[in-house]
Amino acid sequence: MNIILLGAPASGKGTQSENIIKEFNFFHLSTGDIIRTNIDNQTEYGIKCKKYVQNGKLVPYSLLIDMINDFLRNNKKNKNIIWDGFPRTIEQAISLDEILKKNQQQVDIVFYLNVNEHVALDRIINRVVCPKCKSSYNLKHNIPKNPNFCDFDNHHLIKRSDDDVSKFKTRLVDYNTLTKKLLSYYKKKIIKIDSNVDNEIIWKIIRDAINDYN
Ligand code: AMP
Repeated sequence: MNIILLGAPASGKGTQSENIIKEFNFFHLSTGDIIRTNIDNQTEYGIKCKKYVQNGKLVPYSLLIDMINDFLRNNKKNKNIIWDGFPRTIEQAISLDEILKKNQQQVDIVFYLNVNEHVALDRIINRVVCPKCKSSYNLKHNIPKNPNFCDFDNHHLIKRSDDDVSKFKTRLVDYNTLTKKLLSYYKKKIIKIDSNVDNEIIWKIIRDAINDYN
């Protein structure tokens, strides 16, 4: 089964991915995490991607597709995938359809997490993440037990380099001009969810939809 999580920056894609993984047997493919890991490890791809990510711009697809294929080759055991942050353009959506078709698969459900700009910005300002296990915290609503340290591996929490007001605005431009076109591309598969509300309310809708689909 292939689930896509579609939404603006800080719409809750990472949080809902964590919920899905805890309850169902899914494998999390977050292109943002893959890119950040490549940047941290200073791989050839990471070095090329860094300037785009730091400026809040989309990474060219020619770089991204190689990183995705590498990732899939190394993690091909699980057939259930959450695609988080990918696709973000029509070109990427067509390419994903091709990748899945080769494996006799398809996109099954697209969850569209619809968040207001001011809610997303507030989340961005208050977000800290664990660079090791990728867990995300909100300094107002989901506070780590030990300030500045990850609840799961005690790693020092950091702010993402692209989580500031001006880069958020740049990211939003690409989201509004490119990614939103996917709403009509996937119109038969989309479940639209108000993502301004509590995590638990959103999670119930997602959990029920996956259970109903199976
Ligand atoms: P995210 O963690 O999903 O917010 O992604 C962080 C950054 O990684 C984005 O702002 C882009 O620079 C890059 N990125 C992630 N996914 C993609 C994608 N599908 N296409 C191009 N760039 C991406």
